[in-house]
Amino acid sequence: MTYDVVIKNGTVIDPSQDLHGRRDVAIAGGRIVAVEEHVSDNDTHDVIEADGLLVLPGLVDLHVHVWWGVAHLAIEADAHSLSRGATTIVDAGSAGANTLAGFRRYVIDQVDARTLAFLHISGMGQLDNEIGELEDIRWARVDRAVEAAKLHPDVIVGVKVRLTEGIVGKNDLVALDRAIEAAEYLSKPVMIHIGGTSHDIEEILGKLRGGDIVTHSFTANPPGIINDAGAVVPAALEARARGVVFDVGHGAGSFGFRVAEAAMAQGFTPATVSSDVHRYNVRGPVYDLATTLSKFLHLGLSLDEVVRLATSAPARAVGRGDQFGTLKAGAEADVSVMRLEEGAYRFTDAPGDVRIGNRLLTPVVTLRAGRRHVPTYGAHPDLLDHHHHSA
Ligand SMILES: [Zn+2]
Repeated sequence: MTYDVVIKNGTVIDPSQDLHGRRDVAIAGGRIVAVEEHVSDNDTHDVIEADGLLVLPGLVDLHVHVWWGVAHLAIEADAHSLSRGATTIVDAGSAGANTLAGFRRYVIDQVDARTLAFLHISGMGQLDNEIGELEDIRWARVDRAVEAAKLHPDVIVGVKVRLTEGIVGKNDLVALDRAIEAAEYLSKPVMIHIGGTSHDIEEILGKLRGGDIVTHSFTANPPGIINDAGAVVPAALEARARGVVFDVGHGAGSFGFRVAEAAMAQGFTPATVSSDVHRYNVRGPVYDLATTLSKFLHLGLSLDEVVRLATSAPARAVGRGDQFGTLKAGAEADVSVMRLEEGAYRFTDAPGDVRIGNRLLTPVVTLRAGRRHVPTYGAHPDLLDHHHHSA
């Protein structure tokens, strides 16, 4: 068979098929056709030599913002996904019913990254940084959200709602009820953004159904999943037990090392790791999904587990586990070739706490449906520990 490209001699980690070993990956027609110990490269158009590198399913970032020029916080999709190892991105509520058609035409259909979206229950989506999208609850119209989502069933994977008081005022519970009502009509999950809510975390988590997603799970902005005594709140344990997905969604204000360390010490690890990369954190402290994953390596998760939490786990969370987040033969050839660098890396969280880690995942080459994308920039100097030693 004439392959488009063979990725040779890399360490393949594909949690969707419990695979971790030295393999060659053959791609033809934009799809994976073989993952084997040896694939002949006699008749291939091209070879990527991956000796010493990791060959992973294309990373899936469950929380990004890419409605560039409309949502205030959005960034360019491809420059900060394909260039950084992520082949599938899920926009978390940048668009609502009033703006979804434009998001579809001018972004989703134009970019190379596989781009899906949670539709905001607010018709305006996340338009402005100072005027919250649900301070006026009239923006939360269930019928409009359902109608818009039904026009785009291939890209809408659920309904988003942000519950912080500065965004929704005292409307958090009614906003959540409406998001869930819309999600019920669509048979999809809701993704809720916690931290700084006017109502208790128990009241909020208590409404969630199995499959619903909590993003910003490790926020240091109370009320969160850790109580004043440092324990994971029972409501979070109960939610997790009934299938609620606790996602990271690092963001500019929504990930605290101290919260993550306390939760993980009690066995409360994330179900998915996403970046919430956007305009206000892409130059730090988030940078990209790969750096967020590196923080979880530092927090003690294994490399295989970290890969799972950013490939097959988020793909399943949006009901697309059969489509991406895997290197199974037949899947579109979304592949992330990465290097696990060793050194001293300065990881910063949202409150500004710092941890020095010794491993950093960095992108080398990314294939989306078999087409190559290379990094357009390297690790930010602030990540390199020597940069910041002060006298
Ligand atoms: Zn976000």
